[in-house]
Amino acid sequence: MKSRLELENALFLVPVPIGNREDISLRALKVLASVDVVACEDTRNTGRLLRMYSIQPPKLLSVHEHNEEGRADDVAGLLREGKSVALVSDAGTPAISDPGFRIVRAVTEAGLKVVPLPGPNAALTALVASGLPTDRFSFLGFPPHKKGRAAFVKNLLAHDDTCVVYEAPHRIKQLLQEMHAAGAGERRVCLSRELTKKFEEHLRASVDDLLAIVEERGEIKGEVVLVVGGAQRSAAGD
Ligand code: SAM
Repeated sequence: MKSRLELENALFLVPVPIGNREDISLRALKVLASVDVVACEDTRNTGRLLRMYSIQPPKLLSVHEHNEEGRADDVAGLLREGKSVALVSDAGTPAISDPGFRIVRAVTEAGLKVVPLPGPNAALTALVASGLPTDRFSFLGFPPHKKGRAAFVKNLLAHDDTCVVYEAPHRIKQLLQEMHAAGAGERRVCLSRELTKKFEEHLRASVDDLLAIVEERGEIKGEVVLVVGGAQRSAAGD
């Protein structure tokens, strides 16, 4: 992938793989090979990723949660100069539990163009594998570590639609214990681990049965997504 295309003057939101390097679209590769600047979380990770696809990294601009506001102005400035910019995360879709929305907001408020590309995302990949209803769902992101955690769990369990939660592997047992303590031991859930990677697995069970599995294993390794069945519909056996 070496040839550069003439790209329009826009901010391209480019999803990258969540594990399997083949999960990148032809369009994403073309855009990454052709933009003037790639804004990314970690310049070393993204440089490595681009070289994996034989793309010579263009100018890389680091964007993380502590500098996103300032970078938003920098990106808008580049676009005003007529440049094309891609925004990528370390994994998956930018702006989903990753930096991005402030940049998109600044660019759109400045009357500049945003072009979102569809692609890999852990939440949707886990949702569709869960076997839980997909006609309506909520994405709740990461639970807070301490303050607000109880309220998060209460809200999660009150949802009638299917909910998707990101959690660190070393906190998943705690989250299941909190769901059990809140009276949701029977609730249907699916824990998706290491999506698109060699040791991918999907544990579809009740909260209590999943808790037993997690306790037996001692530790859960890798990245995880928890998909939780809705309150009414779980009760109705859906
Ligand atoms: N922007 C990413 C996306 O589109 O999915 C999410 C980034 S967020 C910082 C990282 C979280 O996503 C992980 O803690 C985990 O919950 C989930 N995740 C990312 N990759 C995953 C994978 N391969 N398998 C399971 N969960 C994954």
